[in-house]
Amino acid sequence: MTEKSVIVIGAGPAGLTAAWELVKRGHRPIVLERYHTVGGIARTEEYKGYRFDIGGHRFFTKVHEVNDLWHTWMGPEFLRRPRLSRIFYDGKFFHYPLRAFNALANMGIVRSFAIVLSYIQFQIFPYPTEENFEQWVTNRFGRQLYEIFFKTYTEKVWGIPCTEIRAEWAAQRIKGLSLPAAIKNALFKPRGEVIKTLIEEFEYPAHGPGMMWEYATRAVEGKGGEVRLGCDVVRVVRDGWRVTAVAVSNAGEEKTIPGDYVISSMPLAELICKLDPPAPPGVIDAARRLSYRDFLTVVLIVNRPHLFEDNWIYIHSPEVKVGRVQNFKNWSPHMVPDPNTSSLGLEYFCTEGDALWRMPDADLIDLGKREAEQIGLARAADAIDGVVVRQQKAYPVYDSEYAGHLETIRTFLAGFENLQTVGRNGLHKYNNQDHSMLTAILAVRNLDGEAHDLWQVNTERSYHEEVRIPRRKVEEKPVDILEA
Ligand SMILES: Cc1cc2nc3c(=O)[nH]c(=O)nc-3n(C[C@H](O)[C@H](O)[C@H](O)COP(=O)(O)OP(=O)(O)OC[C@H]3O[C@@H](n4cnc5c(N)ncnc54)[C@H](O)[C@@H]3O)c2cc1C
Repeated sequence: MTEKSVIVIGAGPAGLTAAWELVKRGHRPIVLERYHTVGGIARTEEYKGYRFDIGGHRFFTKVHEVNDLWHTWMGPEFLRRPRLSRIFYDGKFFHYPLRAFNALANMGIVRSFAIVLSYIQFQIFPYPTEENFEQWVTNRFGRQLYEIFFKTYTEKVWGIPCTEIRAEWAAQRIKGLSLPAAIKNALFKPRGEVIKTLIEEFEYPAHGPGMMWEYATRAVEGKGGEVRLGCDVVRVVRDGWRVTAVAVSNAGEEKTIPGDYVISSMPLAELICKLDPPAPPGVIDAARRLSYRDFLTVVLIVNRPHLFEDNWIYIHSPEVKVGRVQNFKNWSPHMVPDPNTSSLGLEYFCTEGDALWRMPDADLIDLGKREAEQIGLARAADAIDGVVVRQQKAYPVYDSEYAGHLETIRTFLAGFENLQTVGRNGLHKYNNQDHSMLTAILAVRNLDGEAHDLWQVNTERSYHEEVRIPRRKVEEKPVDILEA
């Protein structure tokens, strides 16, 4: 192997994993991160000693390489934590995963019966096509369960009706789950170590997920890699199908950094729009049409040592805007500096520029206090302080047109000799940390001559088999794009 100088864009899980694999193989990565800290969406923020995630980040994976890395970096500071999460709907708390007696008590005999009847109805007369989320879920669970457990929460997350969300998203996220399986699971304690572990415990760094990525950064730097913070990549300079350098803006100054190779985890739409000379108009148009869902957390510091047992609670009730509530102290006791207090993260799904996103922080904190009290989680008067953190592009959106746009971009990028995109927004795929990391590991192997298709990670065979809708036709033929 000859040593290559590799520019890695982004110091989130994917970028740092790429850098680690590179230093291990004797290459010299320079990681460029626009933010003041590492970890990307999996970072840990801090306010007056209170630590919190951008959405609680569980560490769970079936990918051995990733699991080994997590344990290597964290050692004994990787805690095994008990999990409790519930769903709040119609004034009641449902255990999630469901527990038979709790679910029955909350729903009552009549509604439970209606759920089973509605399930049977859709087993006999399903929607003939499964183009959208509503059809996909209703065919598998019946309308009653769809309305209680899927519709309101999903619409809060995405901000659009379930009929406008592609079936692929459900297929990717809910695959393997069915009503009979859920009932079996609710009635009988799962057997076997793996399933039990998945449901009842998870691993978590003592000081939150950001700790993992700080340790990974140290490991990369210890082997000669560089991680530069506050470096916003503003242009990706190319000569035909070769990237020759990237330009970064740092404290108002622009610098050009040459490299043999680029691995990018920045959002795909931004990468395409930053190519210099620009990508063909059809590709830029496709990039501009990819959409994202944003996210904000209202953190409340509550003057109570104990609020509730859950790590997090899904809020399905449409009466409140909040979508999920984290109790960070239950993730790890080290997340709060004073054991006589607790900190809650009220998570609001929004779109950059909408009313929630633009709401002043003080109003958001008031809203959070009111809603925490309305749900019965904490008294507004006990919330002694608060802070708001906004996260752009938290979720790549799978709308009815994204597949075609992604195909246009993917085909264009395939023409490059020395550019690969990795991670969640880098592939516009709903990847968790483990799959984001796996794409980075495979990208580095590609650089050393292997041939992995990163777009196939987290797209299992069962997923292909489940999706029964025809793929949308790509508007421009790949050959046209390449010629342009
Ligand atoms: C609410 C929520 C909850 C989640 N929960 C879990 C969970 O429980 N478990 C789990 O495993 N995963 C979870 N995830 C997913 C996890 O956050 C992602 O899989 C992971 O962060 C993706 O890593 P990444 O490196 O691909 O991207 P990112 O984390 O997005 O990192 C990309 C980095 O690139 C940087 N960047 C972007 N543009 C530029 C630029 N122009 N120049 C320089 N740098 C740039 C960004 O600042 C960022 O640091 C959750 C995600 C969300 C939104």
